[in-house]
Amino acid sequence: MSDKMSDKMSDWFTIEQIDSETYIISEYRHWEETHCYLLNGSERSLLIDTGLGICNIYEEVAKLTDKPITAIATHIHWDHIGGHKYFQDFYAHRDEINWLNGEFPLSMEIIRGMVVDRCDLPTGYDVNTYDFFQGMPSKIIKDGDSIDIGGRIVKVLHTPGHSPGHMCFFEEERGYLFTGDLVYKDTLLAYYPSTDPMAYLVSLERIAELPVKCVFPAHHTLDIQPEIICRMRDEFRKLKDAGKLHHGSGTFDYGDWSVWL
Ligand SMILES: [Zn+2]
Ligand SMILES: [Zn+2]
Repeated sequence: MSDKMSDKMSDWFTIEQIDSETYIISEYRHWEETHCYLLNGSERSLLIDTGLGICNIYEEVAKLTDKPITAIATHIHWDHIGGHKYFQDFYAHRDEINWLNGEFPLSMEIIRGMVVDRCDLPTGYDVNTYDFFQGMPSKIIKDGDSIDIGGRIVKVLHTPGHSPGHMCFFEEERGYLFTGDLVYKDTLLAYYPSTDPMAYLVSLERIAELPVKCVFPAHHTLDIQPEIICRMRDEFRKLKDAGKLHHGSGTFDYGDWSVWL
């Protein structure tokens, strides 16, 4: 690798600290502004989402923990599992295991097109080397499971809608809710055939009941408060009541967020 290329790669990730044991690892050079989260426990670390996989997230995470690392994606989309290739120990939801084993519905050509779209790629990066991660998880998880990393317990919530096996992760003791692609500011995506707008509403209803102190989304601004969950739930309810909560009904804009159905 040339010096110029390594320079360009060294500023790929942006690291921020939430508390002394929790970090945000962001990829702001792609328009989706993906965030991964590292939770350090006394026995191991949990990495929620592994990003685009363009640069090596393991090298960044290894600077922030000396414990063994388990990776867990909120869902099996390329921007959340790109770095899974660096982690032998990763968990996945049973409803998306098939996407890790040859059945993801989009072609590599389409995925590569989305990877390069509005992205300040590292100099010399060859997108033709980009692959959609495939592999068998070390553990298959489901709704209601708890992940104990030593002094910290993370609860698994199956929250389908954006994708069939989408999960949110709730650390009740700190009030942290990691919402993946279910909740973020910008356009929520529920128009793909693999999305389910009705299930999306049910998932929002569910997380709206949690005692959340901080929302940590997988994309875009981190200036987001728990109240947005109730606003989203209420607007989804109105769409349902108006008979519009289905594929093909359009994009609905609510100011600091919108939804594409
Ligand atoms: Zn997604
Ligand atoms: Zn995403």
